[in-house]
Amino acid sequence: MTALVWFRRDLRLQNNPAWAAATRGHDHVTALFVLDPRLWQAAGPVRGPQLAAHLVALDEELGRAGGRLRVVPGDPVSVVGRCDADQVFWNDDYTPYAQHRDGAVAAALGPRAQRFHGSVVHAPGSLLTKTGSPYRVFTPFSRAWAQRRLPEASMPGATTISIDVGGGIPEAGPPLMAGGERAAADRLSEFLDVVDDYVELRDRPDVAGTSRLSADLKFGTISPLDVIAAVGEATPGRAAVVRQICWRDFWAQVMYHLPATVEHPMRPEYESMEWRNDRDEFRAWCRGLTGYPIVDAGMRQLLAEGWMHNRVRMITASFLAKDLLVDWRWGERFFRRYLVDGDLAQNVGNWQWVAGTGADAAPYFRVFNPVTQGRKFDPDGSYVRRYVPELRQLATKLIHAPWEATPLELLGAGITLGDTYPAPLVDHSEARERALETYQAARSRGSA
Ligand code: FAD
Repeated sequence: MTALVWFRRDLRLQNNPAWAAATRGHDHVTALFVLDPRLWQAAGPVRGPQLAAHLVALDEELGRAGGRLRVVPGDPVSVVGRCDADQVFWNDDYTPYAQHRDGAVAAALGPRAQRFHGSVVHAPGSLLTKTGSPYRVFTPFSRAWAQRRLPEASMPGATTISIDVGGGIPEAGPPLMAGGERAAADRLSEFLDVVDDYVELRDRPDVAGTSRLSADLKFGTISPLDVIAAVGEATPGRAAVVRQICWRDFWAQVMYHLPATVEHPMRPEYESMEWRNDRDEFRAWCRGLTGYPIVDAGMRQLLAEGWMHNRVRMITASFLAKDLLVDWRWGERFFRRYLVDGDLAQNVGNWQWVAGTGADAAPYFRVFNPVTQGRKFDPDGSYVRRYVPELRQLATKLIHAPWEATPLELLGAGITLGDTYPAPLVDHSEARERALETYQAARSRGSA
C-alpha cells in the first residue's frame, strides 16, 4: 500500500498525526508539498523566505529517514486530487480558503482521503456549547478546553520514503529565523529558561520574556501539544502560556465556524461604522511616523523584523482603529502581509478584539493611551530607543511624549519635532472622544 502525505502548515515529522498514521500503516510514503501560487504570493516578503527555510529543513529531516520532500507547483486540487496513492493523508486547516480547497480535494479522492488535526490542540467543532453552537466567548470555551483530555502524541513509524524531489524548493532569500522542527525545539527550550517569569515579563516589549514560537506554531514546525507538554502548568507563568495556546485554539474555531468574520464585524452593530479612513494617516501608521513613539517603535519593529510584541500589537492596533478611525481590516491586511506569524484566524480574531467589533472583545470604550502604555510597559524607553533611533538622546521621562519636552530639551537631544521626528498625528484625548462618539453612533444605528 502506498501513501501520500500532503504537508501544509504542519512542517514537521514529530508529533504529526497525518505523518504518523501514514508511516505506521504503509510500505511506501511520499512526502509532498504543493506550491500553491495563490498561497505563495500571499506569503509576502517575510513568510515566503521562512516557508522556504522550513521546507529545506523538512527535506533534510526526511533525508535522515532515507527520503526527500517532493515539491510540486500547481493547484492542490489537481496535484493531490489526481495522485495515484492508495491513501492520502493531511492535517486539516480551518481558513475559508483551506476548507474549500480541502473539501474539493477530499471530494476528488473519495475514501482515499484521510484527514487529521495537527495544528491545534482540540479540533474546531469538537468543543461546542450545551446548545450545540460554537463558542463566541473565550472564558467558557477555555473551561471546556481545559477539561478535555489532551490528544495522545503521534509517533511516526518506519517506512520507505520516496526520493523524488519534484520541482524542488524555490529560492526565497534569507529567513527571519532558522528553519525546521529542530530549530523550533531549540527556541522552545530557550523559552523554558524564562517561562516561570512569563506573568511578569510577557507585557514588556523591551525584554525577551515571551516564547517567540508563534511562527513555529503557524507553520507547524512545532506541535501545540509539544509546547504544552514541555511547559506544563506547574507555575503561574507556565499556566499563562497554556492559556495563550487556548486563545489560539479559540480564534481557530471562531474562523472555522464564522468565516464571514474575515470581512465582517462579529458584532453586527458595527457594520455601519463610519471609519474616517484617511489614507495619509494610514500611511504614516504603516511607516511608523505617527509621532507616538511606542506606536512608531512597534510598526518599525514589524517592518524591520517581521514580528511585533503582543502588547505593542494591541497598542498599534488600537491607535489605528480608535485614534485614527481607520477600518481595522486595513490594519489586519497590513499586519498579515508583514508578520512572520501572520495567520488569518489569529490576526482577524485579535484585530476584532482590539477594535471592539468582536464577539469577545475589548469594550468599545477601551482606547489604549499610547503614552501611559509606553511608560508602563517600556519604563526606561529602551524599546523605543531601539526602533526609533532619532529619539535616542531624549530623557526617559520624555521618551514616550517628546512634545512635552522644552525647546531646550529637544535641542539637547537633537530633535526638531515635525522635522527629525513627526509631531503627533492626532491629540490622543480628542481622538479618544471622537472614537467614542463614532462607536456610539454605530451602536445606536445598530440597535435602532
Ligand atoms: P507568547 O506570549 O510566547 O505566547 C505563546 C503562544 O500563544 C504564541 O506563540 C501564540 O501562538 C499564542 N498566543 C499568544 N497570544 C495570543 C493571542 N492574543 N491570540 C492568539 N494566540 C496567542 N498571533 C499570531 O500567531 N498570528 C497573527 O497574525 C497575530 N496577529 C495579531 C494581531 C493583533 C492586533 C494582536 C493584538 C495579536 C496578534 N497575534 C497574532 C497574537 C499575539 O500577538 C502573538 O501570537 C504573540 O505576540 C506571538 O509571540 P510569542 O510567540 O512570543 O507569544
